Amino acid sequence: MTETKLNARHGLGRGCVITRRACFSASHRYWLPELSADDNAARFGPCALAPGHGHNYELIVSMGGELDTDGMVLNLSEVKHAIRHEVTGQLDFRFLNEAWPEFDVSTPEGCLPTTESLIRVIWQRLSPHLPITALRLYEQPGLWADYLGHPMEAFLTIRSHFAAAHRLARPELSQEENEAIYGKCARPHGHGHNYLVDVTVRGAIDARSGMVCDLSALQRLVDDLVLEPFDHTFLNKDVPFFSECVPTAENIALHIADRLSAPIKAIGANLHKVRLQESPNNAAEVYAEVPQLEMTPAGLEAVAAG
Ligand SMILES: [Zn+2]
Ligand SMILES: [Zn+2]
Repeated sequence: MTETKLNARHGLGRGCVITRRACFSASHRYWLPELSADDNAARFGPCALAPGHGHNYELIVSMGGELDTDGMVLNLSEVKHAIRHEVTGQLDFRFLNEAWPEFDVSTPEGCLPTTESLIRVIWQRLSPHLPITALRLYEQPGLWADYLGHPMEAFLTIRSHFAAAHRLARPELSQEENEAIYGKCARPHGHGHNYLVDVTVRGAIDARSGMVCDLSALQRLVDDLVLEPFDHTFLNKDVPFFSECVPTAENIALHIADRLSAPIKAIGANLHKVRLQESPNNAAEVYAEVPQLEMTPAGLEAVAAG
């Protein structure tokens, strides 16, 4: 076989994961008929207001397979058509509660169209047509759900930010020794970052409320246990833990995971991951429960990076 022919067959039969992004705009309302108006308002806050509110959703579909003779896992125009036909064409500019019967809460089987229940139903409807390996759905840039095909399980991520200063130095070492290890980050008066912190929880999707946990309770935990104590501080001096422990991105991410783990358990979910981005160039990720999961971080990361 000539070299040209070999090259033409280069990827044939080899595995690859591809992703496709699709957007739609839709409205929804969180309102359960079995609850009183006051109870709906207490449970769902402004999301219970009539007639509803909307989001610009972004869906990321990951698909796996072997390359064909054309060098593709799947023909992208067929992928595009399947996503439009099965999902976006049915949801774009619609009221989600009425768009699909899965979200009709006037029946006992109906479930509220939260991000995590929406992604579950999208999987059910799309998976007969495409070899999906993972789905991600952004409700907004700071809130998204991941779904890997486990029937009632989803991952929910909220993004928050805080600004803080730190200095990387081990107290028992000299300035020269610290600069040899940490470079500019060891300069005596510190420097700052605008940190992004993504907190991912894993949990069972409630068959009625469609939620893995109370989102406002989760945001409150992040606010109270991370943002309030860390924002606009000099971490080494203002957060007692970092007077002893060097506040590298890795240590900050681990400390955030340690602070959040038990309280998140108490609201009915599991802390899955903390990702702390220190700058556009570096981030640290902590998988808080990997040993208990029959999946690898790579499984979740197969979803296109946000
Ligand atoms: Zn909403
Ligand atoms: Zn730094």
